[in-house]
Amino acid sequence: MAERIHITTAIFYSNGTPHVGSAYEALAADVFARSQRRRYGRENVSFLSGTDEHGDKIRRAAIAEGLAPKAYTDKMSVLFSDAFDGLNVDLDYWVRTTDAVHEKFVQQMLTKTQARGNIEFKEYEGLYCVGCERFYTEKELQQPGNLCPTHNTVVELIKESNYFLKIDQFRAEVIDKIKRDEILIRPERYKNEALNMLAEPLSDLCISRPKARMDWGIELPFDDLYVTYVWYDAFWAYVSEPASRLGLDTFMRDWWPHTEHFIGKDILKTHAVYWPAILLAAGLPLFKSLNVHGWLNFGGSRMSKSSGNVRDPVSYEKAFGPDVLRYFVMREVVYGLDGDFSEERLTERYNADLANDLGNIVSRVLAMAQRYFDGEISTAPKLAEAADATDLIGSSAHKLYLCFGRDGKALEQKVAAAVDDLDFKGALEDIWQTLDAANKYIVATAPFSLAKDPANLRQVAQILANLLEAIRVVADALEPFMPVTAAKIFDVLNVSDDTTKRAPYGDGLKPGHKVKPPTPLFPRREKLAAS
Ligand SMILES: [Zn+2]
Repeated sequence: MAERIHITTAIFYSNGTPHVGSAYEALAADVFARSQRRRYGRENVSFLSGTDEHGDKIRRAAIAEGLAPKAYTDKMSVLFSDAFDGLNVDLDYWVRTTDAVHEKFVQQMLTKTQARGNIEFKEYEGLYCVGCERFYTEKELQQPGNLCPTHNTVVELIKESNYFLKIDQFRAEVIDKIKRDEILIRPERYKNEALNMLAEPLSDLCISRPKARMDWGIELPFDDLYVTYVWYDAFWAYVSEPASRLGLDTFMRDWWPHTEHFIGKDILKTHAVYWPAILLAAGLPLFKSLNVHGWLNFGGSRMSKSSGNVRDPVSYEKAFGPDVLRYFVMREVVYGLDGDFSEERLTERYNADLANDLGNIVSRVLAMAQRYFDGEISTAPKLAEAADATDLIGSSAHKLYLCFGRDGKALEQKVAAAVDDLDFKGALEDIWQTLDAANKYIVATAPFSLAKDPANLRQVAQILANLLEAIRVVADALEPFMPVTAAKIFDVLNVSDDTTKRAPYGDGLKPGHKVKPPTPLFPRREKLAAS
């Protein structure tokens, strides 16, 4: 098992603003990163994102705004980093491909790759998509008419001398590693797609542009008339800063083989075919996983800059409060498949899952604890372990018990395992099943009725102790998904130390502990307020 883990999002092409689609990837990776930090400790997890800032599209976007490319990307990069801050994406590295550290590192990799004889200079004539900034073979294009499969535009025939990476020599090795899951591509369907992409010989990969045509890139260390940019440049963003900080050898030995890349399905080919070859050509080891997600559709089509249906993720954070967008996309979308984003559905989930299921139980149980016991817990939690309970109270207590199991860790372990498997939706379903069991336990035991007779108060104290402890464990399990909400729940439970937060069911809230009066977590809402 990895003791260290390096997690990346794709770096974001900074010619547009962040939208819910780009936030989705960062949020999934953030949930994964937070879950790994709980297991390995913060110092053993590195989580990286950033912006891809070179290339012709960006140069043109800068010109259109009357800015120098660097000034333009300074502005755009901040839009992304601010959006991710606003969504509580807790990064360790924010890499910009125009940072001096990154540029120097890319030049070192070019020198290394050149020295290994894996780069060739030659004249080339090819079909080039300006939107994708890459050459296509006729086979890859939509026919008739040589249309780019991504942009649906006619590609241009370009003839020029360039530097090429000889990648076909690594194809057999990459296929072998994918087949053995040494490059783990998941979900499985993408593994098969990647193997199909590798079935035919690969043409050499063009990694340069003559400055005369396009100079917004990183100068080649062995030819100052050329720059490299886009893919060759962008891939190294996964490596450049941590390797420069820790040393290349240390990073490659201790961290890199445990790398989890989170990417969209549209860049599977570049990551499954080109990226391993680029690493092997530089004599470096390979990453561990490609975690491939689908597209977030809005109004029936993919949310993207070019579709014009983008939504600002931070506006939802502001309108609904923290964690709500995160909860929604993780609960609603099966990782790997396309999902639908709609404001109506977001409001539905907000009211049903957050205001009702989660918010209600927290405020009801804390209100009762306050009303009957001045917030003080007087007994240790104890649920029905025996499965033979036949009455409603006994069987509901047993069902709640089963959520935590004999060692009190079942929920946490199920959630962590589901996150490892990228089953974010399943993890949240496990947490909500626990909330459901707790709600049914309240209905069956009816502590608010029992409390009317003072003779029953010991029994009520036991019921509330059981429920408060259940709420604590739920808050702990929710933490990677809803960090702000978990912190709020821990606050009203008056729990501040990690040992109590993370304790198995039964070992957390002790007799004598006092909880605070409730504050509303998710006030009900009728519809989305215009933001
Ligand atoms: Zn294209």
